[in-house]
Amino acid sequence: MPPALVIQKYGGTSLATVERIQQVAHYIRSTIRPPTQAVVVVSAMGSFTDEWVALAADVHPNPPQREMDMLLTAGERMTAALLAMALEKEGLHAISFTGSQIGILTDSTHGNAKIHRILGDRLRKSLEAYQIVVIAGFQGVDPQTKEVTTLGRGGSDLTAVALAATLRADRCEIYKDVEGIYTADPRAISSARRLPHLSWESACILSGSGAQVLHDRAANLACKYEIPIHIHSSLAPSQPGTVIEGHTRPMETPHFVALTDKKDLVYLDLMLTGCGAIQPIYEWLCSRGDIPQLWSLRRIDDQIELQLSLELAHASAYMEFLTIQCKKVECKRKLSIHLFSIVGTGFSQSHTLLETITILLGEALLLLEIQHGVIQIGVKPESGEESRERLHRAFSWSVG
Ligand code: ADP
Ligand code: ASP
Ligand code: MG
Repeated sequence: MPPALVIQKYGGTSLATVERIQQVAHYIRSTIRPPTQAVVVVSAMGSFTDEWVALAADVHPNPPQREMDMLLTAGERMTAALLAMALEKEGLHAISFTGSQIGILTDSTHGNAKIHRILGDRLRKSLEAYQIVVIAGFQGVDPQTKEVTTLGRGGSDLTAVALAATLRADRCEIYKDVEGIYTADPRAISSARRLPHLSWESACILSGSGAQVLHDRAANLACKYEIPIHIHSSLAPSQPGTVIEGHTRPMETPHFVALTDKKDLVYLDLMLTGCGAIQPIYEWLCSRGDIPQLWSLRRIDDQIELQLSLELAHASAYMEFLTIQCKKVECKRKLSIHLFSIVGTGFSQSHTLLETITILLGEALLLLEIQHGVIQIGVKPESGEESRERLHRAFSWSVG
């Protein structure tokens, strides 16, 4: 029997100080006992990445993406080396690597690269010599150009899940600063409750709707390869946490799992003179790493109406591209919104939801879209906080 292999991932808050790094090293020593081995994925310490993004903006208002990747990958590399040192001090045999060193091969999209393949040979070889291998998260390399790339903000979760899939790990554990996934962000809603269990599909919808707690591409990869993910708090690692596993069983009655929201969005209602403009718009948005939170399309006579919601901070760049560069686009409406997503199942079969939400939110409600597994609700930005409280209070969240 080969030794058991555990993937552990620690986020920036869990590694924010020297003491935290030492605590993590100590915890690893107490849980990973020979012959069990671990591949530990780390994020940059604390808010380093945010600070370096701001630093770059002070140097250049629109810094080259290649140089941003050179800069930001250094954050994870630094934590990886420090954690490997702390593990050695704990008496464990550990080594650190960057994503490029262990062959995380990506496309060439700086700032939002997609993983094509992970070679894994060097990693497997290192596991023969070292009990713990520490990997700098959120990064890879383009094998054609040999340039380092980053996987998008929060991408260390993705590194962990991708490594779990490649190495067929026995367990994938992600350590955060919260004790699991809750019915809503516990920092915004004090009555939010921890979900002991979440299906892969619900995790995908939740993270895709903006819940920062798990990277959306990590959730999608876990669903695709059916990898169970155990989410715990690095501050209270023995607490039960949340297991993401299994598929959603469709219900005949609504089943409410969690509420998430995204503020500071701009909602655009566009008229296109034909379908031809859709693909260039989508490609342009993806090349910037801007995936619309809401994306709906309908034909009205010979025109196409396209509705999207995107980051408010980039509204002027969108308007310039859409109305000046794509000449066949007319913007009918442009609104600032706060967008909520209720994740669960069986929504499209309920006759009362529409009325309940309309009455609950009154004048604040700007848009409402009910699908089987998600309800999306846009409200006026000034009513965002109040609406979050009301929505979380209004439904019975099934945490069992
Ligand atoms: P890390 O970078 O350490 O991996 P993040 O900071 O990205 O972790 O994610 C953890 C944060 O996600 C929490 O501090 C919490 O505020 C936020 N969050 C948002 N929605 C939820 C939710 N439904 N359940 C738990 N945490 C949530
Ligand atoms: N340090 C990166 C970020 O802050 C990646 C990560 O933390 O997962 O986005
Ligand atoms: Mg994160």
